[in-house]
Amino acid sequence: MSSLTNWDPEVNSAIKKEIIRQENNINLIASENFVSKAVREAQSSVMTNKYAEGYPGKRYYGGCEFVDEVENLAIKRAKDLFNAEHVNVQPHSGAQANMAAYFAVLKPGDTVLGMDLAHGGHLTHGSKVNFSSKLYNFVSYKVDRESELIDYEEVLNLALEHKPKLIVAGATAYTRTIDFAKFKKVADEINAKLMVDMSHISGLIAADQHPSPIGYADIVTSTTHKTLRGPRGGIILSKENLQKNIDRAVFPNAQGGPMMHTIAAKAVAFHEAKSNKFIEYQKSIKNNAQTLASELNKSDLRLVSGGTDNHMILIDLSPLKITGKDAEEILSKVNIVVNRNAIPFDTNPPSIASGLRLGTPSITTRGFDNTAIKQLSKLITESLINHQDIDLSKRIKEQVLELTKNFSLINTDFL
Ligand SMILES: *Cc1c(COP(=O)(O)O)cnc(C)c1O
Repeated sequence: MSSLTNWDPEVNSAIKKEIIRQENNINLIASENFVSKAVREAQSSVMTNKYAEGYPGKRYYGGCEFVDEVENLAIKRAKDLFNAEHVNVQPHSGAQANMAAYFAVLKPGDTVLGMDLAHGGHLTHGSKVNFSSKLYNFVSYKVDRESELIDYEEVLNLALEHKPKLIVAGATAYTRTIDFAKFKKVADEINAKLMVDMSHISGLIAADQHPSPIGYADIVTSTTHKTLRGPRGGIILSKENLQKNIDRAVFPNAQGGPMMHTIAAKAVAFHEAKSNKFIEYQKSIKNNAQTLASELNKSDLRLVSGGTDNHMILIDLSPLKITGKDAEEILSKVNIVVNRNAIPFDTNPPSIASGLRLGTPSITTRGFDNTAIKQLSKLITESLINHQDIDLSKRIKEQVLELTKNFSLINTDFL
């Protein structure tokens, strides 16, 4: 067979168009990023051809000596990066990592305390439409109505009332520092295990830009493709005593053969995350989020909790009388890509939502600086406030394209 260009022009054309879309849009989706060329090289390597059910040195297939090498590297590097006692690098995704983590320490029907989806938690933290709430009895904590911060008093009260076997901390839409020590105190109070899902903030944690859950949590799960800037996938870190349970829960319980090409790419990403350049990058993600938040705060928009400590911002659009769905569409017309998001105590259904979630990982990878962020903030607010003005919208799109040209992906080592 020949190359993609010759053999499959249809798929090739979609990929080419996606490259151009990524180049010509400002991506503010908080869970996305642009991986390095090295990560993509590993990800598209011949390791995809190999079956390797089992673990290094204990496989159910022959010919595993070199995939063992990369999986051992990935494990060693992740342990070193996060200071973890045990790491499993095989989960295909964040959701699969969470599934395996639950299997490792719970029985069906057990009670778990997790963050409400509408208040920032993830689907796998007990949402009605997810396996988690079908297999386990999830109870949810919310943020405080006034401060819009996690209410640790309420977490404690719910824990005392429901006696969960596991408490899950971590979020997909929470803009403030999470206090893992407080969660640990609550867990100890009722003798529950603590799991931290650090998916969104694992890059910040790797670079010491957010407190680490290691030392507090029995299990830590994460995606590898968000702030951490690795390939799409998941990992589980745990204390030594849970090693066997975790490994069995991933394989053979939840998954079959591991994706060795992705594991190779994870190893590359963990190596990158140890560099000074990566630490500077994570600092810039936070600085850019701070700048964006303070600029947006000058407008009529309201920021949930008033601002941010991490890489994301949650905007309450209700002062503008438009919904999250409207705003997502308005901004996509000027090549700014965002996602609608529920805000705490939202009165709109999740499919409409009253908020927007913005994140700075992708634009920081592109090299956006303070001046660019200030300009971007203006373009966002002008688009949202004057969305009926077609001429203005055209001018804004031109300025967005100018920004994408000035901060081209081609000029970074990332595409
Ligand atoms: C993104 C995310 C996940 C799920 O990751 P997938 O790879 O999409 O399955 C789980 N938990 C949290 C907190 C997340 O942010």
